[in-house]
This record gives sequence, structure tokens and C-alpha cells, in this order.
Amino acid sequence: MTAPSTAGPDSRPILPGATLGVLGGGQLGRMFALAAARLGYRVHVYAPEHEAPAADAAARRTAAAYEDSAQLAAFAKSVDVVTLEFENVPRDAADVVQRYAPLRPGSHVLWHTQHRLREKRFLAAHGIPCTPFAEAADASRLAEAVATVGFPCVLKTAAWGYDGKGQHRVRSLAEAAAAQADVGGAPVIVEQFVDFQAELSVLVARSTTGASAACGPIANSHDRHILDVSTLPRAELAPYAAAAREMALAVVEALEAVGLVCVEFFLARDGRLLVNEIAPRPHNSGHLTIDACACSQFEQQVRAICGLPLGSFELLAPAAAMANLLGDLWHAGTPRWTAVLGQPDVRLHLYGKTEPRGGRKMGHLTALGSSAEQAEQRVIAARSLLASFD
Ligand code: AMP
Repeated sequence: MTAPSTAGPDSRPILPGATLGVLGGGQLGRMFALAAARLGYRVHVYAPEHEAPAADAAARRTAAAYEDSAQLAAFAKSVDVVTLEFENVPRDAADVVQRYAPLRPGSHVLWHTQHRLREKRFLAAHGIPCTPFAEAADASRLAEAVATVGFPCVLKTAAWGYDGKGQHRVRSLAEAAAAQADVGGAPVIVEQFVDFQAELSVLVARSTTGASAACGPIANSHDRHILDVSTLPRAELAPYAAAAREMALAVVEALEAVGLVCVEFFLARDGRLLVNEIAPRPHNSGHLTIDACACSQFEQQVRAICGLPLGSFELLAPAAAMANLLGDLWHAGTPRWTAVLGQPDVRLHLYGKTEPRGGRKMGHLTALGSSAEQAEQRVIAARSLLASFD
């Protein structure tokens, strides 16, 4: 943990009993609300979507659009500080909120992280290594962009991307053109395809005082571009751990972000660490901190935005693993919850969503173990038990 810098006027702590606002109604807001409630805060969720898992765990909800300035203003006036659980909150909405309450992280952070091109330029400007890239604002610039990067490469929409949405791996200019047409001719960035040995993430909590705490690197494996399993700590990542944490802290410092930020990396085969993405909110890979760490990523988010002393990410067990439960698991019927609830080293987390669509994150399992491999085996075995029907 780093020491706090001199406290400014913005760093007066917001103490338990206050009301914390959250923009976004998903599971990240739900787990934030649960952590906040445990510390005696009330939570007010602002969520346009019909089904809002966060609202079920909050004291109050506003169901209104991000374009509704009057509702946004009323929401912001009703709380002591606002955070977010969804990084694609429109910046205009963030700006309205910021007029009436501190927004942590602020709109300036969204400016960089909502747009892959701005994000990459920001990283490059701060000397932080990231995947080589080129931009193609429209179809006429595509040939030049792919020539700069080379094949194979990955085409991604510049805005509104997550979980691999709006992205295509391509091997020729014809495939690249088809991919850009598939995203409606939207501006894209072309990234070099990284032949990585691992994907990892580091969580950074940074408080109003400038104090920070980092967790990781967490090793992540994906299925169909969606996070599948995360483990911590992996022995093979130990040689890169200090550098990954240092880079993640540098990113969050450069962003001047207050809150909980996740920095995702590729570890290339040649040992280079490249930043892939910055999420200015708690991250799916950090869910294992709820059961495995002295202080979870969600409690750190509460502490950071309230200017309280940060907690410790210290592991309470030698290792932990998390496996996502996607809607696909429901296709053969209701998963067998009782099969995992009897296992002392496995914890079940469900988000209260009612529609188990394919690829939709419905919950997760966490397992503890004496090694990352053991925790991973336990969590995967537990997940397969959920799907085993007589
Ligand atoms: P993203 O939405 O950018 O985080 O991408 C989702 C997943 O796609 C990543 O976690 C990687 O598994 C894969 N991916 C994205 N970009 C690249 C790349 N440039 N090279 C290799 N794999 C990639």
C-alpha cells in the first residue's frame, strides 16, 4: 500500500450513515451495495434497465434514462458521492451528476476509457506499453491501418466494446473489410494479434487522499471472449507480478482516478507485459477477492470513494479461483445448487437475474485451495456438478 499524499478539500471522509450513489444496475453495483451496506451506508442506484440486480440490494432506486438530466440531477442531489459500475455511462450523464455530487472516478476518466483509441493514445503518451495498434476512422483508411499492424490482427470498434463485443480476428484485407462492414462501418482500431502466454489483471484501489492498494496479478482464462476462470496467485506469474502492479498503479495515477480500477494485461510469449484494457470499476476477475481477501474489491471501492483508509488485499487462504456461471448453464434446467452448497471450500454467488440467456453472467463460484491449481480444479469440478443431472 502506498502512503496518502497531503489531504485536499476533496478528501474529507464520507462516513458510514451517508448515502452512496451508483450509476448502473448490474451485478457489480449489487456487490458494491452489499459491501456498502455492511459498512452502514445506504445505496441509491440509478439504472435505466428493466432488470437491475443492484437495485435489489440497495435502499433506493431511480429507474430513468441516462439522457434524463432532471432525474440525474435529483439523484446526485440525494447522495453524498457517486460511483459507477458500468463504464459506458454516457459522459453527458456523468457531467450532469458531477455538477451536484462528487463522481468517483470522474468524467475525465471515462473520457479516456470509453474509447479504445483514446485509451491507447493515453497509455502511449504516458509511456505505458500496450498492444500495437492503428486506427481506421472509415473504410477508406482500413487498408493503411492493417498494413501498419500486419496479419493476423484484431479489429475492434473504437467505442462501446466489452467482452469481445464488436471485435473480429482477421487474416486478410477482405476479412477486415467484412468485419468493418459487420460493425456498420463504425470507426475501428486494428490491433496486432498478441500471441500471449497469459492474460492477467491487476486491481487498484485509489482513494481521495491518493493512497492506493493493488491486488494481483490475477490469471484469467476466457471462453468465447468472455471471462471463464480467474486464479490468484499463479506461481508462473510471480516473476512478472511486481512489474504488473507497478504498471497498473502508474495507469491509475496517470488517470488521476479515484475508486476501483482494473487494468488488464497480455503477457506476451517474449515476456513483455502489454496493457489490453482499463476498466474504471470493479472487475469480474476480482470477484474472488470477496471470499479470498481481507478486503474485497467492492469494499475497497467504498473505502476509496469515501476517503476512508483502504483495506488490505492480503489473501486469507494460499490461493483462490473463480468460475463464472453463464446463462448457458440453465439450458438443461435449473442448476443443482444443493450440489455445491455442501462443499466447505466453495462459495456460490448469484446475481438474482431472472433471464438466463446464453453468455449472460448470472453468478459465479469461488473456491479456496492450498495452491492455485487446487483451487482451480475445485471450482471447475463444482461448476460441472451444477450441470450434472440424474
Ligand atoms: P477485449 O474486449 O479487448 O478485452 O478482448 C476480449 C478478449 O479477446 C481478450 O481477453 C483476449 O482473449 C482476446 N483479444 C483481444 N484483443 C486481442 C489481441 N490484440 N490479441 C490477442 N487476443 C486478443
